[in-house]
Amino acid sequence: MNGKVYIVGAGPGDPDLLTVKAYKLIQKADVILYDRLINPEILLMAKPECELVYVGKEDGKHIMEQDKINFLLQDFVKKYKIVLRLKGGDPFVFGRGGEEALFLEEQGIEYEVVPGITSAIAVPAYAGVPVTHRGISSSFAVVTGHGHKGKFPDINWKSLAGIGTLIFLMGVSNREKIAQNLIEAGRNPDEPVIFIEKGTTKEQKSIESTLKEVAEGKVTVYPPAIFLIGDVVSLRKKIHWFENQLEEIRL
Ligand code: SAH
Repeated sequence: MNGKVYIVGAGPGDPDLLTVKAYKLIQKADVILYDRLINPEILLMAKPECELVYVGKEDGKHIMEQDKINFLLQDFVKKYKIVLRLKGGDPFVFGRGGEEALFLEEQGIEYEVVPGITSAIAVPAYAGVPVTHRGISSSFAVVTGHGHKGKFPDINWKSLAGIGTLIFLMGVSNREKIAQNLIEAGRNPDEPVIFIEKGTTKEQKSIESTLKEVAEGKVTVYPPAIFLIGDVVSLRKKIHWFENQLEEIRL
């Protein structure tokens, strides 16, 4: 029997932000290979006999190499009908979903891709920050703050500096260097920035600051977090829906 692999986005954290397609597939899956940022509540939706396989990576350090994940997919598809490769956010946004799809394609294994809600947009939304806003920002870029094998990413800072809202994923450890590069490339040192830790979950925490303060190493923040730079951060004063709800729960 040859099954099918589904490369599925699990959304940013809140289980209610799964797509209907992802939800249905999780309930039907025979095996789920999941990453580090998957909310355990989502895994509880699987049927009792579903095999759960952790294939995540700890910050930079690979628990499981990509080749091994590919090999597992190849192996499971011989045994099971529905093989679910579950990834945080969207599988094609810094999720290596493309690499897995290419591998399956090469091997002639049947697969489908189920996009997910990316943390790059949803996490700022849960912090009251729209990534675009008429009159404030007419473009945004989603950028990695982590280069290949842990190196600083190779980015054209001058062209990046011309974009309205900048959203860095995996940018916590390189935040000072990112801010310094952006100031050098012409961004206003007083521009507002926000870090949002564990977005869309009950532990969500936002830290507002300025580009200059980040460049000077004055901001403490823990991963996973979104690092967003842009004047849209100012809208948060008015659009503050989710964190208000959290405050009420915490009181
Ligand atoms: N494919 C994912 C991104 C994977 S890269 C997506 O589309 O969302 C992992 C990075 O995503 C983390 O380092 C962090 O910057 C960001 N991230 C993912 N989930 C997050 C969350 N709940 N809160 C804050 N940042 C998150």
